[in-house]
Amino acid sequence: MTQINLKSDVLAKDEQYVWHSMKPYNPQATYVVEKSDGAKITDTDGAEYIDAMAGLWCVNVGYGRKELADAAHEQMMKNAYAPLSQGHLPAVELAEKLNEMLGGDYVIFFSNSGSEANETAFKIARQYHQQKGQSSRYKIVSRYRAYHGNSFGALAATGQAERKYKYEPLSPGFIHVAPPDQYREHESDTTAPLDLASVKAVDKTMTWELGDTIAAMILEPIITGGGVIMPPENYLKGIEEVCKKHGALMIVDEVICGFGRTGKPFGFMNYGVQPDIITMAKGITSAYLPLSATAVKREIYEAFTGSDAYGYFRHVNTFGGSPVACAVALKNIEILEQEALFDRSKEVGAATLKTLQQELQQHPNVGDVRGKGLLIGIELVVDKISKEPLPVEKVNAVIAACKGQGVIIGKNGATVAGFNNVLTLSPPLNIAQEDLDRILSVVVNSINTL
Ligand code: PMP
Repeated sequence: MTQINLKSDVLAKDEQYVWHSMKPYNPQATYVVEKSDGAKITDTDGAEYIDAMAGLWCVNVGYGRKELADAAHEQMMKNAYAPLSQGHLPAVELAEKLNEMLGGDYVIFFSNSGSEANETAFKIARQYHQQKGQSSRYKIVSRYRAYHGNSFGALAATGQAERKYKYEPLSPGFIHVAPPDQYREHESDTTAPLDLASVKAVDKTMTWELGDTIAAMILEPIITGGGVIMPPENYLKGIEEVCKKHGALMIVDEVICGFGRTGKPFGFMNYGVQPDIITMAKGITSAYLPLSATAVKREIYEAFTGSDAYGYFRHVNTFGGSPVACAVALKNIEILEQEALFDRSKEVGAATLKTLQQELQQHPNVGDVRGKGLLIGIELVVDKISKEPLPVEKVNAVIAACKGQGVIIGKNGATVAGFNNVLTLSPPLNIAQEDLDRILSVVVNSINTL
C-alpha cells in the first residue's frame, strides 16, 4: 500500500493549482491551513501555529467563533440576498450601528473589500465637488509608504512604487506626499498641528498643486502595511485643518486600524479628528465574510440630490453589503463590545509594547519598537546610529525562526531602498495571555539569534 505523505501531497497540489498573492512560491516556507481556533491555526500536516498577525491583520475576534457561523446560517435561511439598490434589514441595522460608533452623522455605502471602499470614497469625493459646482477638484493626495488597495485607483493612491510599476499607467490625478517618520525625523508630540513640518509639507503641496484642484486627501491614522509608522500626536489634527483650508475632503482609511486594532473603535479616535469619509473592511466581520464600508458625512451625502439623471451616485455593487455579511458584521461588533475588546487591545497592547521595548532595547539590530493597541512594529536596522535597514535576508531569518517555533509574525515596509525591515504583530484582540506570552518569548529569542 502506498503511504500518502499528506503534507507534500497537499503542498504539491497547492503549488500546481493555486496562484498565491505576492511572494514567489516557496514550498518550504508555506503551509496550507486546515483549521483554526482562537489565535491558533493548524496546517494540513498537523503543525500548530499561533497566528500573531490575525491573518492579514483582520481576524479581530479570533478564529472558530460559533456565534458568527450561526449568524450567517440564520441570515442565509431568512434571506440570503437582496441588492442594495433596494434595501434589506441587516444593512439598515449595521449602518445605524456604524453611525452610532463613528461619533458623527454618517451615511454608509457597502462594498466587499478595502480596495473597493477606497475606490468608492474617491468617486464620492470627486462627484461631491462636481455636485457643489467645483468640477476643477479631482486630485487625490495620499502618502508615500502607505497601502490603500490593489485596484487602479486604490493602487494609484498607494505610495509603494514596487507594488505599482508593473501595472502602470494607473488612474491619473493622484499626488503623493511624504509621511511623518518619528523614528528617522522625529517631530515633537507637543508641536501645534499647523507647525509640524510634516503637515506644512502637505499644505505646501496642496498650494503648489492649486488648492482648488484637490478633491481629497486619504490617509491611515497609523501607516500599517508600510511598517507601522506612527504620526506625531497632532499630525491628524494638522491634516484636518489643512484639508479644510484647501476645501479638500479628509478620507481616513480604517481598513486595518478600525474595529479595535489601535485600542479604540476606530484609529482616528486616538487623534481628536472627525473625518469627512471613513473607509473600513477587514475587522468589520473579523474576515469571516467579505464586507467593507465607506462612511460619508451626511452633508456630503446630501449634495447627491441633483434633479437631473447625473445627480445621484452612479455606483452599484452586486455583492457589497450582502445581508449575510452584514448580519455577521453585526454579531462581530456585538462580540467586540460585549467582550470589551477595544479596551483590551489598548491595555494588553500597551503592556506588550512595553515588554518588547524593555526586552529589545539593548539589541544592536533593534532600531525602534512602536505601535498602538495590538498593532506593533519592530524596526530592524544594521546599527542604531546609521539606522540603515537590516537586509531582508536577515529579517526573513527572524520570521523563519519564529515560524520554526510555532509563531507566525509579519513583515512590512517597502522593498524600495531596502525598507522591508519592520516585523509586525497584529494578533486577534482576544488572544489568550499565554499565547501572547509565547509570541513575546519566541519573537525576542528569534531576534536574539541575529
Ligand atoms: N487599505 C489598507 C490600509 C489595507 O491594509 C488594505 C489591505 N491590506 C486595503 C486598503 C485593501 O483592502 P483589500 O485587500 O480588502 O482590498
